[in-house]
Amino acid sequence: MDDDLKIRLAAFDWLSKQASIFDEVLPRDVLQSGFIYAGKRIAVISPQGIFKPKEMQFPLSITTSPESPYEDSYEEGLLVYRYRGTDPEHRDNAGLREVYRRKLPIIYFKGIVPGKYMAIWPVFIIGDHPEDLSFRMVVDDIAEFHKVKELSSAISDTDIGRRTYITATVKVRVHQRGFREKVLDAYQSQCSLCRIRHRELLDAAQIIPDEHPEGEPKITNGIALCKIHHAAFDNMFIGINPDYKIMVRKDILEEEDGPMLLHVLKEFHDKSIILPPKIIHWPNKDCLNWKYKQFAEQK
Ligand SMILES: [Zn+2]
Repeated sequence: MDDDLKIRLAAFDWLSKQASIFDEVLPRDVLQSGFIYAGKRIAVISPQGIFKPKEMQFPLSITTSPESPYEDSYEEGLLVYRYRGTDPEHRDNAGLREVYRRKLPIIYFKGIVPGKYMAIWPVFIIGDHPEDLSFRMVVDDIAEFHKVKELSSAISDTDIGRRTYITATVKVRVHQRGFREKVLDAYQSQCSLCRIRHRELLDAAQIIPDEHPEGEPKITNGIALCKIHHAAFDNMFIGINPDYKIMVRKDILEEEDGPMLLHVLKEFHDKSIILPPKIIHWPNKDCLNWKYKQFAEQK
């Protein structure tokens, strides 16, 4: 195995540890300081989109910033990555083309919110499109990649189904994590009912669900709620009306069951939720109205 591939695989191992430490959303400084390999510190990300550490022969990673105009970089189930600039022969683009030719796996860092990235790997380039200045890519299962001894056999037609499926699930996961990070940041990491401030206990509740045509995963269709208030909201124990007031369902209000029920649910009746500091992040009133109607109409 050549050094380039050894470092590449060491980077994957290191990343999988970091992903579990940081629950999949990695801070930029961790990626920038990187890992130690053969006594040298190797970064895995750089300010440029396409990154080749100097210890390696070919690019190791590509990055999309959270401010990227190409937010939805998927086309017909494939990941799309734009060239650097408009010159197909730019050094970085040529490097990535070599990665494609050699069927090398790379890492795709997808910016979620400023300074935070999701790492997707192993990603394989499966198409070069100079006509629209982009590469097409798929994600694969790391276990499958390790099973393959000979790199040349890493890509075969029989792998296409698996890769298409994995790429699709990664797309969903990236959207969900992006939604969560944005909503929790907007609410300064606190439950909008009980103010609990531990991110591990918080969810980004989606007001209009994904299945609905208007159920987009954007901040104004979300509310930061702790696990219990999320479940209470989804199961319509509580409703939040378009004036941001919490309404507790009548039978729950009438239920007598000690201090937990009182403090966890009943006491919030007719109180306002805690809104994000920025008005542009407040829940959309139409979204709240859509959900509140269901709450009010339930038996
Ligand atoms: Zn709560």
